[in-house]
This record gives sequence, structure tokens and C-alpha cells, in this order.
Amino acid sequence: MLEIVEKFITISGEAPTIGEPIFLIRLSGCNLTCSYCDTTYNNEVNEYISSDNLKNEIIENVQDFPELKVLFTGGEPLLKERQEDIFAIINDLKYINFYIETNGSVPITNFTLPNCYFVADWKSPTSKNEIDFYLDNLKHFRIDKDCIKFVVSKDDLHWLKTKISHINKINPFLPLYVSPQFNKITLEEIADFIIKNKLPLKMSFQFHKIIWPLKDRGV
Ligand code: SF4
Repeated sequence: MLEIVEKFITISGEAPTIGEPIFLIRLSGCNLTCSYCDTTYNNEVNEYISSDNLKNEIIENVQDFPELKVLFTGGEPLLKERQEDIFAIINDLKYINFYIETNGSVPITNFTLPNCYFVADWKSPTSKNEIDFYLDNLKHFRIDKDCIKFVVSKDDLHWLKTKISHINKINPFLPLYVSPQFNKITLEEIADFIIKNKLPLKMSFQFHKIIWPLKDRGV
């Protein structure tokens, strides 16, 4: 049984699928406790569903809306006890593109299916979980499918620069995104930082908060 916090069809709010229709499935539970977590409700379980039933729901949604991509998020969707279920679904539905938003603390080596794209959120020092990133993942990310995302405050910028240099040595050309922690840095400050330091970073932001400014959940 998979434990679900919520699932719904929305417009993706973050890189690399920003602006695209997506079936978001938020799995319950996380192995980290980030200082700036905006899904503090990630431990709720509002539905138990078998992997077969979830697979059927995904199939029906994509039949109705063929452009739909599927996003597993959390919490941490790659917690050990459900990895087998998730990857069985992805493996069975090869015609659908699946995105997995992970906090990067879990090894991904065995899960590089062609229709599975990883978005690894490398937690910054201000999250208090920076050291939990599983460094060996860096050499396994695929430049045509996976990416790393950083959510930063002003205090993280120097750290970010050193991490980019580190990643470029191990896996050059891997797409890298940066977005602001709410109220901790402005978009303009991030843009200036990228330009001044000539960094291979793409800017992102939480697009869904602009589309639905009054909704904290379900978007
Ligand atoms: S990894 Fe994500 S869900 Fe887990 S505590 Fe950090 S921000 Fe929240």
C-alpha cells in the first residue's frame, strides 16, 4: 500500500516542468526536516492505495489528458519501503513520462529507467540538511533527463558557487536550477548573482504561487 498525502492535476510550478500540466502525487513521509519546508504536512496520510489502483488512476488520467506528465513528490518519494512499488509503476507505463522530486539523500543508481526523470533538490546549508545529499548520485544523473535544483537564501550563495564548481567537475552539462527561499532573497538578487559570476544556472521560482496566490495546498 502506498501512503498518499494528496494527488491532483495541476500546472507544474517548478523546474524543469514549469508551466506544464502534471498529475502530482504527494507521498507521505520524509527522512529530512528542512528549516524552510513548505510541506510540513508531508507526514499526513489521507489515502492508502495499492500500486495497481494507482497505476490504473494514472492510466485513466493520461487517457483523458494525453499531455499529462506524472510527478511523484513528497515528503521524500524514494523512501525505501515504497521504491519497489513506484518503479514497478514507472516500468509498466513506459509510454508516460514520470518525474521524481527527491531530496537527493537516496541512491538512485538502480532506478535509471528511460521514462523516469529525477529532479534532485540539493538542500542548502540554511536548510540544516546540506550534508545529507548522497554525493555518489552526482555521477549517475543523466544530462538529458535529470537535473539538480537549489533553493537558496542570500546566506547560501557562496556555498552554491562552490557546489556548482564541484558538480561541473563530476558531471559537466548537468542542468542546474536555482530558486529563491521565500522572503530570503529576491529574484533580482539571484539574477545578479548568476550574471556577475557567469554561472551555468537556470532560474526558477514557484510558479503555482503566482497562479494560485491564496492556496497553500492542492496546487
Ligand atoms: S526534504 Fe522536502 S519535504 Fe522533506 S523536510 Fe525538506 S523540504 Fe520538507
